Amino acid sequence: QEDIFKNVVSHAKEYGFIFPSSEIYDGLSAVYDYAQNGVELKKNIREYWWKAMVQMHENIVGLDAAILMHPTTWKASGHVDAFNDPLIDNKDSKKRYRADVLIEDYAEKLNLKAKKEIEKARERFGEAFDEEQYKTTNPRVMEYLSKEREILERMGKSLGNGDLEDVKALIEELEIACPESGSRNWTDVKQFNLMFGTKLGASAENAMDLYLRPETAQGIFVNFLNVQKTGRMKIPFGIAQTGKAFRNEIVARQFIFRMREFEQMEMQFFVKPGEEMKWYDYWKETRLKWHLSLGLGKQNYRFHDHEKLAHYANAAADIEFNFPFGFKELEGIHSRTDFDLKAHEQYSGKKLQYFDNDTNSSYVPYVVETSVGLDRMFLAVFATSLKEETLEDGSTRTVLSLPSVLAPTKAAVLPLIKKDGLPEVAKDIIEDLKWDFNVAYDEKDAVGRRYRRQDALGTPFCITVDHQTLEDNTVTIRHRDSMKQDRVAITELRNIINQEVSM
Ligand code: ATP
Repeated sequence: QEDIFKNVVSHAKEYGFIFPSSEIYDGLSAVYDYAQNGVELKKNIREYWWKAMVQMHENIVGLDAAILMHPTTWKASGHVDAFNDPLIDNKDSKKRYRADVLIEDYAEKLNLKAKKEIEKARERFGEAFDEEQYKTTNPRVMEYLSKEREILERMGKSLGNGDLEDVKALIEELEIACPESGSRNWTDVKQFNLMFGTKLGASAENAMDLYLRPETAQGIFVNFLNVQKTGRMKIPFGIAQTGKAFRNEIVARQFIFRMREFEQMEMQFFVKPGEEMKWYDYWKETRLKWHLSLGLGKQNYRFHDHEKLAHYANAAADIEFNFPFGFKELEGIHSRTDFDLKAHEQYSGKKLQYFDNDTNSSYVPYVVETSVGLDRMFLAVFATSLKEETLEDGSTRTVLSLPSVLAPTKAAVLPLIKKDGLPEVAKDIIEDLKWDFNVAYDEKDAVGRRYRRQDALGTPFCITVDHQTLEDNTVTIRHRDSMKQDRVAITELRNIINQEVSM
């Protein structure tokens, strides 16, 4: 699995999808740039979402709010006081850990070491090997499987749940139970706010402390009444937005899965109080259907219903995806009650209420939110599509079998050879198709190699111009996934491509 993930990262770089940010200065950790092909794929995912959410729903409209917002926004939303990651420091390694990494770094490592030792012993002893006996008599394996690991696992869980008192008790327990432990010296746990601060204004005295928004949702809440009134929206209705969000993530690993600057695609659906559970169920189902429509495989998704709810929610679930490093959150669906609008009413002193013409009364609506990370979508689509195939003749090919609607380039037009007027015909075809699709031209190398290059870029079609084209205006069109080739008239190309790539 680690190898698959490494392949994903190197393919993304080699084929111009994702580069580390400011790489010439050795990069900036957990910040990435989308390159020439990545930016197209990302844009197509965004558009696929926007079409499904805004264009297809009469009662959902878009918004593009600013990243910088009045600082009181984040007091009201609870982010100033409660947007924290509990962290624990280790004196020996001089490192700071978040819950999941504590488990990964220590508990998992110890587990793996034990497994390796056991495997080695199994090879050495062969048939006669008795795993249980070996475990109890081998001191090193015992150490790896020890009490320490078990306590660390509990510590990680408590830390993840924010039960800091539990963590403190476990630190003490660890010191007593495993005094010789190599991983003790845990110092106190603390809460760390994830918001990036910045300043507005020139002079030090009257500069205003601002935050880069850690989620796009609040831009929607503060505009709720503006949009409702000017758009004459009737409840239930939604406001959708895509845009950058920033979090000072402590443990930023796993490539674009957890970044410090990332993009969210969020929709806040305003409903009548009491009807939120109906809409919560509706959006859970609708969002899963959207994911499934991309054809990445039903088995790769699952719901995770939250037992422990955030301060603003009365129900919450994640859609988890089977990433190269296991099932992790891709999208969150939250029933946020009237927490946000009420809080903004309280802090701003302005009414944020909906006037219901039918009942002649006003109320603060409840909100059901769907929130998906665009970069996590990118990773899900990209990693699942990247395949190493063995062909009938025994050779292998790398193919990025992206959903065609999302592919950065829809077709590559290739003259079989660089002379006899074939490049000119190929360029004419491009001139014609480029009004509707991203198309590429490639004349370098043998045509087989050019096919492979397009396979690796995820281009669904290759159109080859050969000498017969000059006689009858037909070309071959090759399908990326099946590698099947058909002979078709140039005039049919637009329709054929359209059928497969249109959203
Ligand atoms: P996690 O538990 O993985 O940190 P979260 O529960 O904090 O995520 P939300 O606040 O619900 O995430 O944000 C909604 C969505 O935004 C997530 O489902 C995820 O797809 C995306 N997202 C959140 N944080 C990041 C990040 N640091 N990098 C990339 N995407 C992110």
